[in-house]
Amino acid sequence: MGLRPNLLTRRTAGVASTTLALLLSTAAVGVVPAASAFSAAPGEVCVEPADVHSDARIKPGGGAKHEPNELTLAETREREADLAAALRERARFRAGAGATTMAASVTIPVVVHVIQENSTRAGGNIPDSMINSQISVLNQSFSGATGGASTAFSFQLQKINRVTNPSWYPIVQGSSAERSMKTSLRTGGKNTLNIYLGELSDSLLGWATFPTRKLNSMDGVVVLSESLPGGTATNYNQGDTGTHEVGHWLNLYHTFQGGCSGSGDSVSDTAAEASPASGCPIGRDTCTAPGVDPITNFMDYSYDSCMYQFTAGQASRMLTAWNAYRAA
Ligand SMILES: [Zn+2]
Repeated sequence: MGLRPNLLTRRTAGVASTTLALLLSTAAVGVVPAASAFSAAPGEVCVEPADVHSDARIKPGGGAKHEPNELTLAETREREADLAAALRERARFRAGAGATTMAASVTIPVVVHVIQENSTRAGGNIPDSMINSQISVLNQSFSGATGGASTAFSFQLQKINRVTNPSWYPIVQGSSAERSMKTSLRTGGKNTLNIYLGELSDSLLGWATFPTRKLNSMDGVVVLSESLPGGTATNYNQGDTGTHEVGHWLNLYHTFQGGCSGSGDSVSDTAAEASPASGCPIGRDTCTAPGVDPITNFMDYSYDSCMYQFTAGQASRMLTAWNAYRAA
């Protein structure tokens, strides 16, 4: 279709590696949050948000009319205040430990749970090759190999865990079965990415939790198995749902968060956007603020063939959040 500038690059590039050697001082990182206006009191420690926010990607025309967990302005303010507080907390911790550097390059261990109803493909039994391709897509997307900014992150598959359990299939967003599944299966620390694959409720492509200061058993991303590269989800089968959900897991909002007003997605180099894009509406411009809509950004809702980039601002926000929430 020619819409993705370097589709061939995506398909032929090997697993890219980031070579960031930059060491960020705590003072430099402290500059990053733009949300200090919403900061909590300096003495506040370890107060968790009221709930674990999650965010989902849906198929246009599907059964779901809206996202089950789209964030309100109050929720984004709460999250931005928590990020600022978490950064202060980590800075104090590091100062007390005599440490002055934060991670600038991160390899994320990945555990993939394949939830199956039975041993058939229709029952969720996708091949290992699709999972390996998904990991490659994550590495290409986050390294900038598909045309976007290079981020600090690379991904290393640790384990594929196949689970046949009809009571967890399909995975129903927000259900007690989802909680049971994750409580039973989640492994690793805050730095471990747990990906749950399967058929999903309500025509959803996926959903994710944002990072929190205290590890929650719900932490992780859920992705429609047929959205993996080579899957059957037409227009959404190049693995970008996985990239999008991992973006949330690393603290990114949608590019259309907040619409045309306010601080939007809290990233300065993604143009404001009034609503999600679908398909690939090149040139769409829904806000009077400068810049056309970022429909090629992984954090919009465009077709996989249309989205190929994170911005430098998103890369910075993800690394800041990593050091605040997920770093050891
Ligand atoms: Zn999303």
